[in-house]
Amino acid sequence: MPDYESVGCAFKSRRARSVVPNGITAKDAKTAKVPEHERWMRVALAEAEAAAAEGEVPVGCVVVHEGRIIGRGHNRTEALKDPTAHAEIIAIGAAATALENWRLSGATVYVTIEPCLMCAGALTLARPELVVYGARDPKFGCLGSQYDIARDNRFNHGLKVVEGVLATESAGLLKEFFRSRRSGKQGTVPSARRAAQSPFSRKAQ
Ligand SMILES: [Zn+2]
Repeated sequence: MPDYESVGCAFKSRRARSVVPNGITAKDAKTAKVPEHERWMRVALAEAEAAAAEGEVPVGCVVVHEGRIIGRGHNRTEALKDPTAHAEIIAIGAAATALENWRLSGATVYVTIEPCLMCAGALTLARPELVVYGARDPKFGCLGSQYDIARDNRFNHGLKVVEGVLATESAGLLKEFFRSRRSGKQGTVPSARRAAQSPFSRKAQ
C-alpha cells in the first residue's frame, strides 16, 4: 500500500471537479450521475470498512457493469504479504474473471481513494468506461495529484475520470483508521459503521 500514513490528514476531500477528462461534463458529474455514483461508492466504502476491520488501510473498490457488481475488493497487502494487493487490483481482477474478458468495456470502477501509480496503470490497461474515486491522495495519487495518467496522451485509452464522490467519507475512514492506530486501537470507526449500514452492504450482494 502506498505510505498513506505519512501524509496523515492530507487526503483532500474535494468536490467533484468541474471538468473531468475526455468528455464527462460538469453537469454529468454534479447532477444526473451523482446519485448513481454515490450509490455504488457506498459499496466501495463498505469494502474499505471491511479492510479497516481487518487492520488493513481502508481503501475499497467495486466494479459495476450493466447495473450490477461484477467485482469488489479491499486492500489486503498485510494479509497477503503482497504489495500489489490493492483494492483496485483485486476488484478489477474479479471483474475480468466475471466478464471472461480482460477488457472491462462498459464497466465503471468505483474506488474510495485516488488510485496509485500501479492501480492507475492497471485501470488504463483494463479500459473501463469510467473511473470514479472519492478523495485525492496528494502523495501517491496518479489520477490528478502527483500525476494524471488520464491526461497523458501517450497512454490514452480514453480513460474517463470523475473525482470527489463521497470524498469526505472516504478520507474520513482513512483519517480515523490512522488516528485509532496511533492510539493503539484498530477496527471499525464511526463513518465506517455508517457505510456498513448502507443498503448495499456486503450481505446484500
Ligand atoms: Zn494502488
